Amino acid sequence: MGAQANTAADVIIVGGGLVGATLAIALVESGLRIRVVDPVTAAAPTQPSYDDRSTALSPTSQRILEALGLWPAIAAEAAPIRTIHVSDQRSFGITRMHAEREGLKALGHVVPNRVLGRVLRERIAALPATVQPVTARVERVESGAEVAQVVLDDGASLTARLLVAADGTRSALRKHLGIDVRDTAYHQCAVVANVTPAQAPNGRAFERFTPEGPLALLPLPGGHCSLVWTVSPERGQRLAGLDDGDFLAALQAAFGYRLGRFLQVGQRFVYPLSLSRSGQRVAERSVLIGNAARTLHPVAGQGFNLALRDVAELAERVHGAALRGEDPGATALLQAYAAARQGDHRRVTLMTDGLVRLFSNRLPGLRFARNVGMVAMELLPAGRARFMRQAMGRGNRLPRLARGLPLEGGHG
Ligand SMILES: Cc1cc2nc3c(=O)[nH]c(=O)nc-3n(C[C@H](O)[C@H](O)[C@H](O)COP(=O)(O)OP(=O)(O)OC[C@H]3O[C@@H](n4cnc5c(N)ncnc54)[C@H](O)[C@@H]3O)c2cc1C
Repeated sequence: MGAQANTAADVIIVGGGLVGATLAIALVESGLRIRVVDPVTAAAPTQPSYDDRSTALSPTSQRILEALGLWPAIAAEAAPIRTIHVSDQRSFGITRMHAEREGLKALGHVVPNRVLGRVLRERIAALPATVQPVTARVERVESGAEVAQVVLDDGASLTARLLVAADGTRSALRKHLGIDVRDTAYHQCAVVANVTPAQAPNGRAFERFTPEGPLALLPLPGGHCSLVWTVSPERGQRLAGLDDGDFLAALQAAFGYRLGRFLQVGQRFVYPLSLSRSGQRVAERSVLIGNAARTLHPVAGQGFNLALRDVAELAERVHGAALRGEDPGATALLQAYAAARQGDHRRVTLMTDGLVRLFSNRLPGLRFARNVGMVAMELLPAGRARFMRQAMGRGNRLPRLARGLPLEGGHG
């Protein structure tokens, strides 16, 4: 739907990628008037959230998606992860994490982003008229004490009591709101492709730390794997330019034969990697979520999982305010939201950044430390359990959606 001049809404979500779209769905029962603004419709082949990547979803993310009624359609095209095998190419340390040992059916599920995109798009299309997609780019923001206003590239403007910036790593909204961002470049990129090994992965995920960076192979339905191979930007360009045979040979050399020979590879995509943290996650009448708030290295597959927990917390607070007839963009609400999410953000960032640094450092002492660390993780249940809880998104106080429960007393 196109933008209309000077439209008033309750919530404007800028960015209809994975995170913005999920938040819109989570808020539908609140009865609030919601606009989701994105210049790229979800159906477009260039929609960045829904490209050829796959996403590993934690059990908490599964519960959130279940509570939103999205899980059955996703699960039909997802592969469960039953074990995670972590190894270092140059040394003896190997650790395995087992779903069974954790009392779970699966440690997580891997879903192609295109499937996530399709399921979200279909749901958004079926939502009542209170939620409206607006195909436009936000050009300017004026956030004030009473309302936030965004000006679109077609000259129209929208006002709302709450503005949600879900416009990705290079968030223009963040800039317009005067929020600074701290970028840590890893001087690495991720080469992403779907590959077919001779042996089906059958629920096995692999994280292999190589001198160049971590290489992850995640199980996909149909005996395929999703490859995320972290290397230097120069090597990434070279790998992406290889023909299929040479690419598979390079991958085989880095990964070994745990899944037999690699037989086939799809199109390669290269993503630059950095840690990017916004100085604040809330401002007057505004909140940043998803990559706009924090972009993580994909080594531990945490970006969308963390963002889904943000969605669960924010939706519960905004929904509650709507039911009580309160202001969904009130400063106290936004600050309470940011405070509630602070610890999870800090822990996940430290874990992800720590993993990248520990495993990409070539110092001999550190190499010893990481071998010992991995072996210790295998032997010491407490250390492994802490890592697992983090990786699976189990926190302290969980919002209702994260417990698999719908939000209370919606408008239906
Ligand atoms: C290689 C790789 C592997 C990953 N694997 C995992 C994983 O296994 N598990 C996991 O949890 N996470 C993973 N992630 C992270 C995950 O992909 C991100 O957390 C997620 O894509 C963030 O989505 P988003 O909606 O915040 O941002 P985006 O996907 O970037 O979407 C932003 C949206 O905003 C729109 N937009 C931009 N500017 C404007 C504007 N001015 N006006 C209106 N709209 C605008 C864009 O069109 C876009 O649709 C991975 C990331 C990478 C790079």
